[in-house]
Amino acid sequence: MTDLLPYGLGSPDLVEFQPGYFVDRAIAKDLQALSNDAKMNGFGLRIESAYRSFEKQLSIWNRKARGELPLLSDTGELMERPKDEEELMYAILTWSALPGASRHHLGTDIDVVDGTACPEGYEVQLTPAECNGMFAEFHAFLTSRMDAGLSFGFSRVFVPGRGKIRPEGWHIAHLPTSRKRLEHFSLDVLRGIYEQSEMECKRVVLARLPKLAEEYIYPYFV
Ligand SMILES: [Zn+2]
Repeated sequence: MTDLLPYGLGSPDLVEFQPGYFVDRAIAKDLQALSNDAKMNGFGLRIESAYRSFEKQLSIWNRKARGELPLLSDTGELMERPKDEEELMYAILTWSALPGASRHHLGTDIDVVDGTACPEGYEVQLTPAECNGMFAEFHAFLTSRMDAGLSFGFSRVFVPGRGKIRPEGWHIAHLPTSRKRLEHFSLDVLRGIYEQSEMECKRVVLARLPKLAEEYIYPYFV
């Protein structure tokens, strides 16, 4: 039977690590260790995004395509929805992964901020400005732990010089586990899933799938 977990389908073995945020059970112990280490150093590792299902990612994708969610330019400003389907697809891809190919499907990847540095009532946006601003010390701490091999298996994935996804300092992945999850990822399976899905821009996504994979998917299989 095809393993559908890498595509955000099927029934992953999840635990609720923080209220409302689920991760793969296999990473919970290491994530707790990283969180404890952060705490001992004055930081509060707070999750802003964790496991996400195919359906959830598809809903984000479709709402952006239909103009029900705002589209942002690559500099982060609100942009007009392109009429051309291919342009629209690339505009969505600037900030959102293809359904079935988001690393958040794996349950091994999370977006994190420093809860102790977050002003009361502040709504986290997950932007480079925050990483370099209020959460800079926390990210410097994470970087130093990763560089020293003391980050319990966690690394950044969306770093400059890989594919076309913008760098995301807040996104960390438990690589030993995600590598196992991605071992049998197949573009043909993903194509089959799309063919059976109500997905906006489906025609152009299917037509460009190998190229999209080279730019937005495979560079981040690390
Ligand atoms: Zn993320």
